[in-house]
Amino acid sequence: MDIEKIEIIGDQHLPTSLETPLHPNAFDPSDDEKIETIQYHFQKIMEALGLDLSDDSLSGTPYRFAKMYVKELFYGLNPKNRPKISTFSNKYGYKKMLVEKDINIDSSCEHHFLPIIGKAHIGYIPKGKVIGLSKINRLVDYYSHRPQVQERLCLQIMKDLQQTLGTEDVIVVVNAEHLCVSSRGIKDKNSTTTTMEYGGVFEDSIYRNEFLALVADDVKR
Ligand SMILES: [Zn+2]
Repeated sequence: MDIEKIEIIGDQHLPTSLETPLHPNAFDPSDDEKIETIQYHFQKIMEALGLDLSDDSLSGTPYRFAKMYVKELFYGLNPKNRPKISTFSNKYGYKKMLVEKDINIDSSCEHHFLPIIGKAHIGYIPKGKVIGLSKINRLVDYYSHRPQVQERLCLQIMKDLQQTLGTEDVIVVVNAEHLCVSSRGIKDKNSTTTTMEYGGVFEDSIYRNEFLALVADDVKR
């Protein structure tokens, strides 16, 4: 890939697919093996920058960095780490909109590996199944902890909820700050990006507007 094309894809944050692009052997090595590989290469990066790794403050950084990548920031790459979500039958027969607002987004942009920080707001209309409220937060956390593009993050959360809840009637709004926009490049400290995905009844603007009215103040924040 030529350098010019690399710059264009990164700066415009172009997503390429719904699925996170993974190579077929992505989970053949264990987490510990991945940590060892990343530790080795990150040490090379630090050395290339001219840093003296014999310094006490720096010597442990390649290991800390590697462990953070595999176990924390990108734990959501591995399908084994998807939160277990048990569904319950909708005993109350609640058929109106349920909205969960202000769910933390702690993600990373796949073009620059810099943080994406923001909030997700999610609505759905239960059919036969409901899930514990905190499970929505856990699902958002899981999909956030991969190298991401905001559009794909939004879509992955929606698709999973639609499948888990057995209904198309799901809407997801994500509002986030990208550090690759605020701390480098254009260095805009104030702009945020909003993305929205919806299906089922939310195709109808009446439902969409009802949801947006409920989360409006929170999206602006
Ligand atoms: Zn970026």
